[in-house]
Amino acid sequence: MRYRVVFDEMKLTFVKHFTCLCGRNLRRQKTFSQTYNPYNVVADRSRPKTREEVAAAVRAEGLAWRAAPEPCLHAGEPDMNVRRSP
Ligand SMILES: [Zn+2]
Repeated sequence: MRYRVVFDEMKLTFVKHFTCLCGRNLRRQKTFSQTYNPYNVVADRSRPKTREEVAAAVRAEGLAWRAAPEPCLHAGEPDMNVRRSP
């Protein structure tokens, strides 16, 4: 017989507003998650993470992403926000 084990999940969505290298004002959103499960262990692998530790780990991932600079992917795209003179 087959069955499925569903673990509880800690999920956080982070949003960052920033000015791109090309001058556009942008908003990016990303969701980070980890499950509470017996294999999600602390660094020395001595025990599973507690709920607080899982929450802190997800938060740390999100904060690192929010602090990291975004590359400009707009090369060659027309900028709809900027009015250019002909
Ligand atoms: Zn850009």
